[in-house]
Amino acid sequence: MTLPSQAAVVVIGGGIIGCSTAYHLARDHKADVVLLEQGKLTSGSTWHAAGLVGQLRSSASITRVLKYSVDLYKGLEAETGLATGWKMTGCLRLATNADRWTEYKRLATTAKSFGMDMHLLSPAEVKAMWPLMETGDLVGASWLPTDGQASPSDITQSLAKGARMHGARLYEDVRVTGFEMKGDRITAVKTNQGDIACEKVVNCAGQWARQLGAMAGINVPLQPVKHQYIITEKIDGLATDAPTLRDPDRRTYFKEEVGGLVMGGYEPNPQAWTTGDVPNDWEFRLFDDDYDHFEQHMAQAIARVPALETVGVKQMINGPESFTPDGNFILGVAPECANMFVGAGFNAFGIASGGGAGWVLAQWVVDGEAPLDLWVVDIRRFSNLHRDRQWVCERTLEAYGKHYTIGFPHEEYTSGRPRIVSPLYDRLKNHRAVFGSKLGWERPNWFAPEGVEPRDIYSMGRQNWFAAVGDEHRHVREHVGIFDQSSFAKYELTGPDAAKALDWICANDVSKPVGRLTYTQLLNTRGGIEADLTVSRLAEEKFYIVTGTGFRTHDASWISDHIGEGLDARLTDVTEDFGTLSLMGPRARDVLSDVTGSDVSNASFPFGHVREIVIAGHTVRALRVTYVGELGWELHVPIAATGEVFDALMAAGKRHDIRPVGYRALESLRLEKGYRAWGSDITPNDTPLEAGLGWAVKLRKNTDFVGRRALEKVGGAALKKRFAGFTVDDPEIVLVGRETILRNGAPVGYLASGGYGYTVRKNIGYGYVRDAEGVSDDFLASGNYELVVAMQRTPAKLHLEPMYDPDGEKVRA
Ligand SMILES: Cc1cc2nc3c(=O)[nH]c(=O)nc-3n(C[C@H](O)[C@H](O)[C@H](O)COP(=O)(O)OP(=O)(O)OC[C@H]3O[C@@H](n4cnc5c(N)ncnc54)[C@H](O)[C@@H]3O)c2cc1C
Repeated sequence: MTLPSQAAVVVIGGGIIGCSTAYHLARDHKADVVLLEQGKLTSGSTWHAAGLVGQLRSSASITRVLKYSVDLYKGLEAETGLATGWKMTGCLRLATNADRWTEYKRLATTAKSFGMDMHLLSPAEVKAMWPLMETGDLVGASWLPTDGQASPSDITQSLAKGARMHGARLYEDVRVTGFEMKGDRITAVKTNQGDIACEKVVNCAGQWARQLGAMAGINVPLQPVKHQYIITEKIDGLATDAPTLRDPDRRTYFKEEVGGLVMGGYEPNPQAWTTGDVPNDWEFRLFDDDYDHFEQHMAQAIARVPALETVGVKQMINGPESFTPDGNFILGVAPECANMFVGAGFNAFGIASGGGAGWVLAQWVVDGEAPLDLWVVDIRRFSNLHRDRQWVCERTLEAYGKHYTIGFPHEEYTSGRPRIVSPLYDRLKNHRAVFGSKLGWERPNWFAPEGVEPRDIYSMGRQNWFAAVGDEHRHVREHVGIFDQSSFAKYELTGPDAAKALDWICANDVSKPVGRLTYTQLLNTRGGIEADLTVSRLAEEKFYIVTGTGFRTHDASWISDHIGEGLDARLTDVTEDFGTLSLMGPRARDVLSDVTGSDVSNASFPFGHVREIVIAGHTVRALRVTYVGELGWELHVPIAATGEVFDALMAAGKRHDIRPVGYRALESLRLEKGYRAWGSDITPNDTPLEAGLGWAVKLRKNTDFVGRRALEKVGGAALKKRFAGFTVDDPEIVLVGRETILRNGAPVGYLASGGYGYTVRKNIGYGYVRDAEGVSDDFLASGNYELVVAMQRTPAKLHLEPMYDPDGEKVRA
C-alpha cells in the first residue's frame, strides 16, 4: 500500500465518527478525501459500544442530527449491501417518582415540539410490553417508538464501504504522528508511512482526539472514562424485539441482544482513565472486568429484571469512552487552528449521533460554517480554562455521574468551583450571594435575604429563590440595582482598518462617530445570527466589543476569522482587564452623579454613547446601554479598581436605596422587556428579520456585510417564522423552554426561552411562530393561542411588543 502524497481533506480516525464524516464528504460533496486509521476500522471505542440509539435531546438541532442518524441507518444497507443491525424497537424510560414523571411530561412536550411522538404509559402498559420487568415501583414510563438499536461495528463498516463507493480512500494501520504547520494552518499530515499534503484535517480520533489536537496546538477537552456493561446468556421469555430500556432512577439501561440482555449503567462514582496521553496500542482492547465497581448496577438491575439473578453472564465489557465537561460532544473548527475540524467526545452516544454528526461535520468542513445551530456542541464553547486537564476531569466525572439524574431547571454544576472569581466575590458573598458558574466564572445568581438559606434547593415547581429574585427584580424597576457582570467577554479591535473590518462583520452600522455605542448582530452567510453584542467606538481606530460570558471563544474567533484579507485590524481579548458593574434602575443617574464629576445628564451623556468618567479616582469606561429596560450604565472598570468603584457606588447609593442584584433577576427583567438572548431566542438558525431585529440591520446602507445577500434574497417574501412573546396567567405553571405553541389548536412552534416576569406578574415565553405559507401580521394577530406545558394545554396571550414598557422613553431619558 502506498499513501497518496496529497488530498483535499484528511480524516483521522476510523471509528463511527470518522467513517461517517468521510462518507458524507464523499457522498454529498464529492470531496477528495483520505481517511487514516492507526489500527483497524472500529478498533477504538466503536467496536465495544452497546448500540442503543436514542434521539431526543433538549436542543432541536441536536435532535435533528440524531433523527438523521436513524434515517441513515435504516437505508444504508440498501446502498452499500452491508447491514447496520438497525432495529426500531422503541425505547421505554421508567419513572419511579413524581419529579421524574414531571420531567417526562416535559420531555414528551419537547418531543412534540420537535416533531416526534413520545407517549406516557401506565405501569400496566409497561408490563405488557416488557413482561420480565418488575413494575411495582413505577409511576409510569415514557415511550418513544422510533428509537432503537444497531450494531456499532456493522454501521461503521457499512459507512466505510459507502465512503469508498463514493470515492473516499480509507487506509488502516497508518498512524498520524504530527502536522506540518504554516502559521495557524496545517499544510500536511505526517504519518508513520509518509506525509500527506492537505487543505483540511478532520480530527475524529476518539479518546485520542485530545493528544492529536495538541500536535496542532488545539485543545479538545475530553476525558476518557471507564464504562462497563454485561452481556447475559439467553433469558427465557425475552422478546427479540423488546424495547430498549432506560431506568434512570436505578441508573441502568438494557438492550436485547441475541436473546439475552445487555445491561450497563451510569454510576455516581465513575472511574476516569488517564489524564495523560492515551496509549496508541489500544486496538480492540478493554480494561479488566471490575465486578466490584459494577455491583451497584447489578443490584439495581436485578430489582428491575429479576431474571438477571439467575442468568449467566456471557461477557463483561469494560471500555474507555470520551466524556466531556458538559455531557455534549465536540464539533467544529478549532479556534486555534484555521483548518482543523473536530468530531469527538461523544459521551456514550456516539453511535446514536454518528450518522448525523458526520453529515453536519462534513458540511461544516466544506462551507467553513456550521450548517445549523450547533452551538451546544461547538468546540468554541470552551475556553483556556479547559486546558486544565485536572479541572476537565473533575467536571467531566460530575457530568457523567449526572447522566441519569433528574434534570432540574436552573441546576448548577458543583465541581471545580470556585475557579475564576471577580474582585467582588467576597463582598458579594457578604451580601449573601448564591453563585452560579459560567465558563469558569462565579457569578451571583441571587441574594438570599436574612432567614433564607443561601443555596439553591432544586425542584420541578417554583424553587426556593423565587421570592427573593422577585424582590431584586422590583428593586431594579423601582430604585436602583448593581450587577456584577465582570465575566462579560470583552475585546478591543484596533488598527487603521478596524472600522472597515467591522463594516463587513457587523449587520448594524457600527462605523459611527467616536463615543457612540451600537447593538449589533453578526450574521453567517445564510443570514443566521452568529453573535449578538455591543460595539463602542473609543477612537477612530479603536473599538470596544462586549459580549456574553459563555461566547468568549466563539465570538472572538468569529470576528478574527472574518477580518477581511489584507486588512490592518487586530482583535485583542481584554476580558480580564476590566471588571463590569451594571448600574440599572430609575435612580441610576442619581447614584452615578454622586460619584463622578462628569456630567451624566441625558443631554451630555445620551443613550447609546460611551464616555470615560472618573469614579473614586479611577478612569472608567461608561457605556449607556441596558439589558433590563431601565435607565442605566455598564461601567467597565480597570480590574484592580473594581472593588473600590463598587464600594464608592454602594456608599453613594445608600441614600438612593442601592442593592446588589443577581443574574436570575436580570433574566426576568430582560424577558419582560423582550431583549433576545443569543443561544436560545436568537441562533444561527434565525435571521434578524425573523427575530424582529430588522431595525438593527443596515440593509438601507450601501455597505456589504456578511449575510446581506441572504437577507436580500428573502427581502420582500413573507417570513416563514416570526419571533413572538407569550404570557400565561396561571401562577402554577412553570415555563422552562421548548413548550409547544398552539395557534387555533394546531402546533406552530415552541418556546425558545421561558421564565417569569415579576412586574407583569405572569409567566413569559418567547418562540417562533411558523407557517409554511408565511407568517403575516394578520396571521399572528388573528390566532387564538395556547401553550402545551408538561402535556397540559394552557391559554396564552400573544405579544409582539415588549410586555413591560410603561414608558418606552424612560430608558433613553
Ligand atoms: C462500554 C461502552 C458502551 C457504549 N454504548 C453506547 C451505546 O449504547 N450507544 C451509543 O450511541 N454509544 C455508545 N457508546 C459510545 C460509542 O462507543 C462512542 O461514542 C463512539 O464509538 C465514538 O466513536 P469515535 O469514532 O469518536 O471514536 P473511536 O471509535 O474510538 O474511533 C477513533 C479512532 O481514531 C483512531 N486514531 C486515534 N489516533 C490516531 C492517530 N494518531 N492516527 C490514526 N488513527 C488514530 C483510533 O485508533 C480509533 O479507531 C459506548 C461506549 C462504551 C465504552
